[in-house]
Amino acid sequence: MKFLHHKLQGVPFNLARHRRGKITPIVVVIHDTASSLGHGDAARYLEDNNAKTSVHFIIERNGAIEQQVPTNVGANHAGRSHYHGLDGANDFSIGIELVNAGRMTKGSSSRTARAWFKTEFDIDDYGIQFIKTPEHGEGWWMDYTEEQMEALMELLHALFDYVPSLKDIVTHWYISPGRKVDTNPLFPLNSIKARILGRDDLITKEADDLSEWSSDGDDLVRIEVPGDQLNMRRWPSFNPNVITQIPKGVVVPVIRAGTFQGRCWFKIQYAGQEGWIVAKYTAEIRASSAGFQPAFEVSF
Ligand SMILES: [Zn+2]
Repeated sequence: MKFLHHKLQGVPFNLARHRRGKITPIVVVIHDTASSLGHGDAARYLEDNNAKTSVHFIIERNGAIEQQVPTNVGANHAGRSHYHGLDGANDFSIGIELVNAGRMTKGSSSRTARAWFKTEFDIDDYGIQFIKTPEHGEGWWMDYTEEQMEALMELLHALFDYVPSLKDIVTHWYISPGRKVDTNPLFPLNSIKARILGRDDLITKEADDLSEWSSDGDDLVRIEVPGDQLNMRRWPSFNPNVITQIPKGVVVPVIRAGTFQGRCWFKIQYAGQEGWIVAKYTAEIRASSAGFQPAFEVSF
């Protein structure tokens, strides 16, 4: 999958009526359509409606993708929402709708669940489960299809390759808590985030298990990078997992040290976060050393 001029190549593009201004997207927001499952039903509604709703991408139950808004233009998919101190996610996000029936109730027989639009779905055929979570409340929820998940992974890989400002993947309930419940509890957000944001990375716990505590946490290092800043990363790898950048000269405490794929990494604290940096771009300092005076702010 490739993008050209903000459009995914090789899939239908039907321009939505309701569009916003130019955006620099930093997150992808995943939604459920909470609609009938018929191929194109949700897409035709999102393309033109009187509710002023729109979205960038729709993924059908069979994995077919349709795009309706270019990736550098905002769409009306998130509504009232907040992300890490920013309000109004429509102006900094790309929306993807997965065709799904949304929250369902018990059906007229023990083998079915009933959607808000009155259709009943066979529990076994649609992988429906009763689940209660703090974020969703309780409900009967329809599983996503394998084809949808494969299409979503390909789309996310292509998006993160094409749009360098993208940093995170969230669900609608995460940015509009209490107001929205999509995606449903069966959506594998964590594994998708690990695969897209971390690619083949070790997850945090594995990286911790494979590294060792630094002595008492009072080991300090000064950032000594050839450029102006050093990338602090979520995991010890060069995949797209940069959390923030640390200016040259800053002194930081080392929490853990470990060797990953032949390279020595430090887990450090900086600006209230923990992350990994390449050890060779640091110079060792001992806090207890006589005459040590932090020339720069120490950020814990
Ligand atoms: Zn939504």
